[in-house]
Amino acid sequence: MSPGVSELLLLGPGPSNPYPEATAGLARPVLGHLDPEFLALYAEVGERLRAVFQTANRVTLPVSGTGSAGMECCLVNLLEPGDTAIVGVNGYFGERLCEVARRIGADVVRVEGEWGKPLDPARLLEAQRTTAGGRARLVAVVHAETSTGVRNDVAPLQALQETDTLFVLDTVTSLGGIPVEIDAWGVDAAYSATQKCLGAVSGLAPVTFSERALARVADRAADKPISSFYLDAGLLDAYVYEPHRYHHTASSVLVSALHAGLGRLFDEGLPSAWERHRRIGELLQGALPALGFELIAPAENRLPQLTATRLPAGTDDGKTRRRLRDEFGIEVGGGLGPFAGQAWRIGLMGHGARERSVASLLGALRVLLG
Ligand SMILES: *Cc1c(COP(=O)(O)O)cnc(C)c1O
Repeated sequence: MSPGVSELLLLGPGPSNPYPEATAGLARPVLGHLDPEFLALYAEVGERLRAVFQTANRVTLPVSGTGSAGMECCLVNLLEPGDTAIVGVNGYFGERLCEVARRIGADVVRVEGEWGKPLDPARLLEAQRTTAGGRARLVAVVHAETSTGVRNDVAPLQALQETDTLFVLDTVTSLGGIPVEIDAWGVDAAYSATQKCLGAVSGLAPVTFSERALARVADRAADKPISSFYLDAGLLDAYVYEPHRYHHTASSVLVSALHAGLGRLFDEGLPSAWERHRRIGELLQGALPALGFELIAPAENRLPQLTATRLPAGTDDGKTRRRLRDEFGIEVGGGLGPFAGQAWRIGLMGHGARERSVASLLGALRVLLG
């Protein structure tokens, strides 16, 4: 292995990453999962997560598992077999939401958008009115589509608050990188992951549930319990908060790392972190077209933290990415779905969102592409 470093942290810091900030907290003492010191740490992580999600939701906690566990946690608590779930699909992670809902036994109604373009929120609201007599259980949408670099406009879905349909939001790539306003947007359940713009190591999935979502969970528990024991929001609540009833053995190492990561985020200031992601993303996006790279997402809905770009004609995708990794220590993601082999996904997330990341990628591309 090269002493190589991942300058562009699409999937989060690796063991030899050049951003030591991302591993802060990992060396703290290991604590038992019911140690009062650990429970105090958990409570503080909950407070910090409420601040970053911009919510007053009492049940806001890190699920033990990656972002996908957060997705499963939100859907398995709110859906049961036969429920209707409306899902916005304009990329890979929208597809995954459909698959998770389908496995729970829900009837999935897809509201499709073209990959690389934002979803039309009016079509999602229209689907809510016209599906299942206006009684669909939930509408689920990905805020920042990591497969295409598109930000979906989700604030208008606040109108779901006036219906019986819950609003579920994937904030895995958005949280910490661009504004996420759980309460102002009327989001009932949201999930994220620690390794993207929160800039910690992977392994935890922050989730938050509104009182309306919890009422649904409580309703269900009365007659038919949630099919997942591990991801049951009521059991997680009783573990993380009073009465601290044993449920599973959470990793104090990961919770410490998230605690430290969120601490650094608030030291910088959330608005400053958003501004840094915006500035660094625009630096890269401003320079790529001159090298022959065409940006996929439209400017108004383009994410700064994830740039999807078509390769210049004649560029060998696999070979160029391999050389970037082996010779320059830079990792970029390949295209997904219809973009496989034709596009790249360049992540500038968390600590990776720095001038030097952009400078080293642009320098390497000038060498590799002539
Ligand atoms: C990465 C990602 C996920 C899944 O998170 P994991 O930590 O890989 O399980 C879900 N949704 C979006 C939008 C993502 O980018």
